[in-house]
Amino acid sequence: MLDTAEDCKAAVDSKYTRLDALVIGAGIAGIYQLYQLRELDLDVMCVDSAPDVGGTWYWNRYPGARLDSDGPLYQYIFSEELYKDWSWSERFPGQEEIEKWTHYVVDKLDLRKDMQFKTTVERAFFDELTKRWIVVTTEGEIFDTLYLITCCGMLSAPMTDVFHGQETFKGNIFHTARWPQDGVELEGKRVGVIGIGATGIQVIQTIADKVEKLKVFVRTPQYILPMKNPKYDEEDVAAYKSRFDEIQKVIPHTFAGVDYDLPFRWHDCTPEQRAQLLEDIYQDGSLKMWLGSFAEMYFDKDVSEEVSEFIRGKMRERLKDPKLIEMLVPSDYGFGIRRVPLETNYLETYHRPNVEAVSVKDNPIVEVVPEGIKLADGTVHELDIIVMATGFDAGSGALTRMDIRGREGRSLTDDWSRDIRTTMGLMIHGYPNLFTTAVPLAPSAALCNMTTCLQQQTEWIADCIHYLEDNGLSYIEPDENTESAWVEHHDETANANLISKTESWYLGANVPGKPRRVLSYTGGVGTYRKKCSEVAEAGYPGFTKR
Ligand code: NAP
Repeated sequence: MLDTAEDCKAAVDSKYTRLDALVIGAGIAGIYQLYQLRELDLDVMCVDSAPDVGGTWYWNRYPGARLDSDGPLYQYIFSEELYKDWSWSERFPGQEEIEKWTHYVVDKLDLRKDMQFKTTVERAFFDELTKRWIVVTTEGEIFDTLYLITCCGMLSAPMTDVFHGQETFKGNIFHTARWPQDGVELEGKRVGVIGIGATGIQVIQTIADKVEKLKVFVRTPQYILPMKNPKYDEEDVAAYKSRFDEIQKVIPHTFAGVDYDLPFRWHDCTPEQRAQLLEDIYQDGSLKMWLGSFAEMYFDKDVSEEVSEFIRGKMRERLKDPKLIEMLVPSDYGFGIRRVPLETNYLETYHRPNVEAVSVKDNPIVEVVPEGIKLADGTVHELDIIVMATGFDAGSGALTRMDIRGREGRSLTDDWSRDIRTTMGLMIHGYPNLFTTAVPLAPSAALCNMTTCLQQQTEWIADCIHYLEDNGLSYIEPDENTESAWVEHHDETANANLISKTESWYLGANVPGKPRRVLSYTGGVGTYRKKCSEVAEAGYPGFTKR
């Protein structure tokens, strides 16, 4: 808003671009959204604060960063040619290969000419006179756009400033999602890793044999699954590509957007059958154990306990030291209730002489001091490098860290500091013509193969804009009661799930002051898709359009 003379002066000096649509974020969602809106013949641009495309795969270049969805399921499936002209070298590709794939897609679809990098959206406000969004960047540029689409990622607002005294540390602190492009010299260094989520685990297992000393600060233990990651030869690649039609047909409709569902019913199986099924699925070496076994583990405490005990047994077998078992094997929550990481020799890493697990459960980190990390009992762990694998302000953080103002000047940051609400994760009441992806109340990283969810969400958005254009409309906003009905359905589904009973980033519990709500839609990708399609097919009832 032009509040002061300085604002007016700055506005006059700014580069100004008028558009039909602006896409924020050049990751998995933004790339495809830009393509779709360009296909609609809209004047559209995509901006990103990073120097290049990739989104999460640009930023998360920490040692060991790797996909834990199967590569062939993670690709875009809207174009057979785009799918088949790319070949993965292994089942679970590493960050570098996925980043290259994003470049391949952007170049093949010739999207770069409509992308602008090193462009950070600072604020965006809905101008009630023109019914358009005015978007201002930190670089001082202004975009004036009819539609604003956020493709900012579910896990893109890193928790970087967590501990008192971080600025006093004499060594270097790196958050995993802000890892330097040139890498970090770890050889001969005393390194501390804080966090054993999916990220921390990948870092720990990768750097343990490179550093002089590795201290892992462990708070909540994690269930883990060993990854089986075969290299693909020509025959393997041909085999997965030959499944394109099947993949395209199946994955949009399953529970987690992958090529399997939750097919087994615990109570229909004998104890012997259950044990055999668990063992067989475990041997797949993928997230199938979590997203493709017994649905009851999400709802029934007894089933959850039995499946959890199976995994605990597998973990205990690999750990020699009872102290490590106590620290690293979860006991007070169920398998699959927090995000399950895939790993390779992660537990064995703790048996190395240069690796130490430091429990910070009852003796928490109180601050970072110049020498290293200080715990509540006064112990100081001296370090040269601190790796913060401390996660993200998931789902909402990317948007609340911008200043987004809707109708009557309402602030999304303020609104979501009280209650995080969306309409199907695609629009927000009070924010007309603002479309969102990877935000709360839609399926997301928590329980979904992200590319599947993001393709569906961006397609819904493109269809909606197409509908508006076709019908001579230029304004859409979900009504308050439409949003309330979705929030209620979301909560009802989530509250029946054991996920809602355990603290984790799934509920926003890792961010001080964040209002609690299960962030991701837990009703399944297929169900969500159906509900979204029904709204579109009915001509968006419960949305104000003009
Ligand atoms: P995360 O799961 O939120 O883990 C953060 C870790 O930091 C937890 O172990 C947490 O402990 C710890 N932590 C935070 N504050 C702490 C404190 N004050 N003291 C001690 N420990 C503290 O974050 P993430 O590992 O970055 O993973 C986030 C999500 O990204 C994953 O769940 C997954 O969806 C996605 N991801 C995907 C891949 C992949 O596909 N390959 C890889 C990495 C990440 P508590 O648990 O006790 O809070």
